[in-house]
Amino acid sequence: MNSIEINAIKLLDEAQAKTNLLGMTPTQLADYFKSIGEKPFRATQVIKWIYQQGVTDFEKMTNLSKSLRDKLSIHACVTPPKVIHRQYSDDGTRKWVFEVTGGSLVETVLIPAEDGKVNGRKTLCISSQVGCALDCSFCSTGKQGFERDLTAAEILGQLWVANASYMTDAQDSLEYVDHSLWENNVTNVVMMGMGEPLLNYRPVVSSMELMLSDHAYGLSKRRVTLSTSGVVPKMYELAQELDVALAISLHAPNDELRNELVPINKKYPLEQLMAAARNYVFEVNPRHKKHVTIEYVMLDGVNDSDVHAEQLVALLGDLPSKINLIPFNPFPHANYDKSSNNRIHAFSNILSQAGFVCTIRQTRGDDIDAACGQLVGQVADRTRRSAAWQQSIKDRENT
Ligand code: SF4
Repeated sequence: MNSIEINAIKLLDEAQAKTNLLGMTPTQLADYFKSIGEKPFRATQVIKWIYQQGVTDFEKMTNLSKSLRDKLSIHACVTPPKVIHRQYSDDGTRKWVFEVTGGSLVETVLIPAEDGKVNGRKTLCISSQVGCALDCSFCSTGKQGFERDLTAAEILGQLWVANASYMTDAQDSLEYVDHSLWENNVTNVVMMGMGEPLLNYRPVVSSMELMLSDHAYGLSKRRVTLSTSGVVPKMYELAQELDVALAISLHAPNDELRNELVPINKKYPLEQLMAAARNYVFEVNPRHKKHVTIEYVMLDGVNDSDVHAEQLVALLGDLPSKINLIPFNPFPHANYDKSSNNRIHAFSNILSQAGFVCTIRQTRGDDIDAACGQLVGQVADRTRRSAAWQQSIKDRENT
């Protein structure tokens, strides 16, 4: 465990009694400073320390007066979630398991670009909930059930720790950060880990605001992606509020199959989902050229035929889309198998010939653990759905 992670643990107890400033938007932090009788512009100074310098100790925020630093030390803290497990793969993939307040576990995965360049693209897949209520049939997170929403501090804290891991690797100290190292940070964020982000709307939006803010992480809006399984009303709300990239976990080209794979489709069927996607692309800020990323997990003999590919072409129509085909990553007792490489390429060719940009996701981090949800699945199973899943496995083994 490195120094930042040890500091995070020390701070955790203090956090119970103090206001955690991590994850507060610039407006919320300005309000906080007003509430303690300080000038609102202090918010900008503190945000820069927290996110651009990785500093959690108010004593080190040297452009604040001594009296303010003392006041903050008594009443506030900057506390990321506690890292209880981490794995770094030979290919540069990094995974963390966090224990959040109350003892629940969530995971975060960082995937570097394949070119392996030190300053190349690094995409962090962030969790928004503990478990997930939506129970997609091919998803290991869904099998663990739903415990609770994450707070903004717990969501943004995942990014904070991922960036800190590069700083501490370089010099194992947050006190004197060489700014040239900042290029070595997370470059892209996808809200695609455990949970359905649009069912934890406000903390997710606050976190993304800080990802985009020039005073915090300053990520380009094209490099912050929210992935939804199709919470249609919230897609309209998001379109009005924040301009980030949108991905849809589609996985099936017709309602009958999608009802089975992604049960929220029964509530918001494809016609409604596609209308919300079109609204996101065409109606909001139409001068801004946008597209939607379509996520499609390839399940052998289930959704991967030529007919399914043709249905997908028809469904997307003229919606500007990039399609990401995801080879299924099997987990113990999953009811599905991965499509063959030949099948995935045949499916991809049909989409490409119809004019869509289509990519096939490469699996990474094979030497540590596989897809989202699997790492936590090995650490703790705490929910009733998880218990039911375990029981169904036993039942199947006994028959
Ligand atoms: S695929 Fe996403 S929305 Fe579906 S159960 Fe898994 S985490 Fe939840």
